[in-house]
Amino acid sequence: MDIIDERNVRIQPLNNDWYGNAVAAVDMLRLDWLHPIISGNKWYKLRLNVLYAQEHNYKTLVTFGGGHSNHLAATAHAAKVAGLRSVGVVRGKYLQLTATLEACAKDGMELIFVTQADYSSKQEPEWERELAQHFDEIYIIPEGGANDAGRKGAELICRFIKDSYTHILLSVGTGTTLTGIRNKANVAQQVIGFAPLKQGAYLKEHIAPHLHADKNVNWDVLDAWHFGGFGKCTDELIDFMNEFYSMNKIPLDVIYTSKMMYGVRDMMSSGYFLPADKVLCIHTGGLQGNAMVNHRLLQHHS
Ligand SMILES: *Cc1c(COP(=O)(O)O)cnc(C)c1O
Repeated sequence: MDIIDERNVRIQPLNNDWYGNAVAAVDMLRLDWLHPIISGNKWYKLRLNVLYAQEHNYKTLVTFGGGHSNHLAATAHAAKVAGLRSVGVVRGKYLQLTATLEACAKDGMELIFVTQADYSSKQEPEWERELAQHFDEIYIIPEGGANDAGRKGAELICRFIKDSYTHILLSVGTGTTLTGIRNKANVAQQVIGFAPLKQGAYLKEHIAPHLHADKNVNWDVLDAWHFGGFGKCTDELIDFMNEFYSMNKIPLDVIYTSKMMYGVRDMMSSGYFLPADKVLCIHTGGLQGNAMVNHRLLQHHS
């Protein structure tokens, strides 16, 4: 069963004015065109999990995330389309639902709000015992889809990536998508993750153990472009998103891809790349998370 049609996914070259002579090409893999809600990388991480749950007659998908988690929204929608129930365990209390949580609720996800302390102290088996008492036949997907099925599913993104790219750039949250891509892509290609959170380079410790021994080279996670931390943004970032949209007609999301592309531009001006490099940036989606800044974005008004 494939509930998502991949035919909308394309490679789009960026406007040459955006990168000049810094590199030979910058292309963007438009995974955001996959689906308006199960966008970008989320479907690849969910795909094998949803298949497994269906094949083994589970009735309820349970997963975890914060109030801006695109993974929660994608899981809610995937469950709905696959005919499964869904439950989202949400970190923190919200007086008002975020746009992302509203999207979850709209797709029938039951939301359970837990304190930060509870959220981080409980291990999966504990949650499983507790949730199994309240819901039918639960299949647990860890936060961010960070399990073997998620990493394996992310490998499928490489079907869109030619060997001629010297660099594959993407945003990271859990690093699950990067792991799948590093494991599958040609070993000579540089796979660089951009963490939109402070001190995000620690993610490398979580990624490395899941890499095949022969693929544990030519990859990195950079964390210089966090703009104050996860979910935070500045006027400068909004201006950058608008400028990027004007030049390339590609909408970026405020949590992940805008911070990556800002970093890419910085790296080009500081001479990180060689003029012959061919760079592929992955648009991992997440545009539904822009709701709170949409009124400041050109892309929303054109
Ligand atoms: C979730 C998400 C990521 C991070 O993916 P990981 O596999 O957790 O590293 C990157 N970009 C966007 C837009 C996302 O929604």
